[in-house]
Amino acid sequence: MASSNDNKSTEGGFQDGNSDPNDEETNELCPGFKDVDAFVKYGLGAVLSATKASAGLPQAGDDYDFYRSFPGFQEFCESQGDKLLHLMSQIMQHHGCRSHMRDRNKLTGLEERFDLVVDSNDTILERAGILLDEADGVNRSQQPVMPAGFQPPKIVVSSWNRKGSGSGSRPETFRLLHAKNVARPQLKFKEKVDNSNTPFIPKIFIKPNATKPLPSYFTNKQIRKERPEDLDVPAALADFIHQQRTQEHVEDMFAHPYQYELDHFTTPENLLSKPEVQMYKPMAETKCSFIDTLEDLVALNEKLCKLSEFAVDLEHHSYRSFLGLTCLMQISTREEDFIIDTLELRSEMYILNEAFTDPATVKVFHGADSDIEWLQKDFGLYVVNLFDTHQASRALNLARHSLDHLLKHFCNVDSDKRYQLADWRIRPLPDEMVQYARTDTHYLLYIYDSMRAQLLEFHHGQPGLLQSVWNKSKDISLKKYLKPIFTEESYLELQRKQKKSFNTQQLTAFRLLFAWRDKLARQEDESTGYVLPTHMMSKISEELPKEPQGIIACCNPVPPLVRQQVNELHLLVQQAREMPLLKVSKDGCQQWAYVLSLETKSDQTSLSVAHMKASRIIESFENPFRMVRGDSLKGGGKKRERVASEVGESTPKPSKKLMKSADKPQKTEPPSQESFTPFDYSQSDLSVFAGTKSKSNTQFDPNRQAPDFKKKKSNFGAGNRSMSYMAGKSERGFRHNWPKR
Ligand code: AMP
Ligand code: MN
Ligand code: ZN
Repeated sequence: MASSNDNKSTEGGFQDGNSDPNDEETNELCPGFKDVDAFVKYGLGAVLSATKASAGLPQAGDDYDFYRSFPGFQEFCESQGDKLLHLMSQIMQHHGCRSHMRDRNKLTGLEERFDLVVDSNDTILERAGILLDEADGVNRSQQPVMPAGFQPPKIVVSSWNRKGSGSGSRPETFRLLHAKNVARPQLKFKEKVDNSNTPFIPKIFIKPNATKPLPSYFTNKQIRKERPEDLDVPAALADFIHQQRTQEHVEDMFAHPYQYELDHFTTPENLLSKPEVQMYKPMAETKCSFIDTLEDLVALNEKLCKLSEFAVDLEHHSYRSFLGLTCLMQISTREEDFIIDTLELRSEMYILNEAFTDPATVKVFHGADSDIEWLQKDFGLYVVNLFDTHQASRALNLARHSLDHLLKHFCNVDSDKRYQLADWRIRPLPDEMVQYARTDTHYLLYIYDSMRAQLLEFHHGQPGLLQSVWNKSKDISLKKYLKPIFTEESYLELQRKQKKSFNTQQLTAFRLLFAWRDKLARQEDESTGYVLPTHMMSKISEELPKEPQGIIACCNPVPPLVRQQVNELHLLVQQAREMPLLKVSKDGCQQWAYVLSLETKSDQTSLSVAHMKASRIIESFENPFRMVRGDSLKGGGKKRERVASEVGESTPKPSKKLMKSADKPQKTEPPSQESFTPFDYSQSDLSVFAGTKSKSNTQFDPNRQAPDFKKKKSNFGAGNRSMSYMAGKSERGFRHNWPKR
C-alpha cells in the first residue's frame, strides 16, 4: 500500500497486471527488461519493499485507531485499499479465478476475501507448478504416448466391476468418465479382478514340473470356490465359515507355489561354462507372430518346451486399473519373435507354466522384478531357471544397467524408449508399438550369451561371478506378489512422505480422503492416482476448503471422480474441520495421542474408562510408528521367508513332467471371486482408537506372507471386516522400484 507511494518499482511491477491481458502479448517477453532474470530480480525487490512497507503500517490495536481518527488518513487508506483490491481482482481474472474482491455488495466479510485470495494463490501456484513440471519433462495429465494419427476408440464406461445384481433384469449403469478413454479391457475378462482388501492368493490350480505336488487348497474347487463375499449370511458368520474351511490351508495359501522346486534347483553345469555366443538374426529377417488365440498359444507352449532358452518381457498398464493389467507378453527364441495379446488370453496364459517352470529351459528377462510379480498377479505364472540380464549388468559393473544401454553396448542398436509408458491397452496394436515391444526381447538371447562369456572372462574362467548372477536371478523368481492392503495406518506412511506437518484437522482430512480414494479405486477398478492424485489429496487436506468449489480449486486438472463426488468429499472435509484443532507437535505420536484421547472423551461413559482407553491407545500406537520409522523394520512385511517345514521334507518325487498338457485335468475354476463386492468400510472398525483392542491376536495379518506356524497357529479370515490389519506397505506405486532403463 504505502509502497506505491514511495516505491516506483511496485507500480512498474503492477503495470503488467493493470494492462489488458489481451494486448499484453508483445514481442518482448518482459518489456523494459533484458531477460527474465532481470525481471525476476526487479520483481522480487519490489515485493520485498512492499512487504517491508506494509509491515511498517500501524497495527490494529496500537497506533492505528489513533491515525484512523484523521479524515485524511481514512481517505488515503480507502483509496489505496480500493486500488489494491482492483489490482488483485485483475490478476485473479487474468488467471481465471473468482474475483469479486472489490464488489462489496457480494462479499462482505474479510474472511471470505481472504479465502478468495488463498484460493487464487493456490490456483496460480498449482499452474506454475504444472508448468515447471512440464518444463522439467513431467507430464501430470499422463496422456499416453500415441503413434501419430492414432485415434483411440471412444468407449467410455465405468462401474464395470459392480455385481450385475438381478442378473440382467436391471441394465448396468455406465457413467461417462473421460473423453479420451481406451476401451476398458477389464470388461472382457472372464474372471473379474479381485480388488477386495484381502491378501493375494496364488492363482495357480495346476502345477507342471512339480517335484512337490500342488497343495489340495488349490486343486480342491470346493474349498476355494466360495469366498465369504459370496455367502448370503451376515459378515461375521461368513468370515467364520470361510475361516473354518481354510484354516488348515493358510500355510499353503501364502507360500510360493514353486518354493520347493526353486530351493532345490541348481544351475546346470553347462550354464556355468563358456558359452557359444550365437548372433541374433536381423529383425527384418525374423518372423514375428501375434498370438491371440488359445490354439496358437498351445502351439507356442509346445515349441518353447523343446528349447533350451527363450527371452521374455511384459508390458503393463497401471493408470486405469487398481492392480494394473499386463497387456502384452513378448517372447523371442533364437529364430522367432512372438507377441502375445495377454488381455485376450489372460485366462489361458497359465498353460505357459509348462515352459516357464521347466528347469531345463532358461528364461531370460531384463529387470524381472516387476515381471515376476505381474506374471503371478494376472496369470498365475511362475519362473524356474531365470537369468536376469539386469543382474548380469550389475555384476559386470557396466556404466548403466538399462536395456537401452545393453542394446547399444552389445548390439549397437539405438532403441527408442518413448513407448515404454504408452497405453498398452490399445487394440489393435499399432505397428510402431509392436516394433518397440519386439525390440525388448529380440536381442536378449545374444546379450545373455555375451554377458555369460564376459562374466566368466572377468573371473578368468572361474564360475563364481556367473553363479552369483544365477543366484540373484533365482531370488527374483522367488518374489511373491503382494496386493496393496488398506489398513487404518496406511495413510500415515504416505502422509509422512508429503513433508508437510499437518495439524489434527488436516491429518484427519488426509485420513478420510485416503480411505475414500482407496475404496473408490477398488470399486471402480481405477488406480488411486487416477481417482485422486496424492499431491491433490495433500493440498485439499492442507487447505480444508470450506466449500465444494474450494476442493475443485485444489485440483488441476480436476479428476473425473472428484468432480462427480465433490459433495461427498466436501462432507469429509467438513468432518475433518470439526476435529478439535491442535497445534502440530513434531512428534506424530504425541499428536495422535491427543486426538485419540479427545475422540475417546467425546463418547464419555466414565472418565476412568476413557483414561484407561487412552493409555492403551497410546501404548498400541508405539508399534505402528516404530514400524514405519524404524529402519530395521523397513519392508519387514515384504520379507521373503521360506517355510521351514518345506525344506528337506521328503515328498514322493513324481516324474519330472508330472502334468504334461495331455493329462491336464479339466480346467477347474481358477481361484477368483465370481462376484466382486467392494469392501464395506462402514462396518470397519474406524476407531481402533475406541480402545477395544480388537482380538488382535486372532487377526490375520495380510502382510505376513509366510506365517511362522511354529509359534502360533493363525486364524485366517479372508473377508475380515474389521480391518485392524497391521501397518504395512500399501500405497501402491511406492513398492515399485523401477530398474533403470
Ligand atoms: P519394460 O520392461 O521397459 O518394457 O517396461 C515394462 C513396463 O513397465 C512398461 O509397460 C510400463 O508399464 C512399466 N514401466 C517401465 N518403466 C517405467 C517407468 N519409468 N515408470 C513407470 N512405469 C514404467
Ligand atoms: Mn521389462
Ligand atoms: Zn518391455
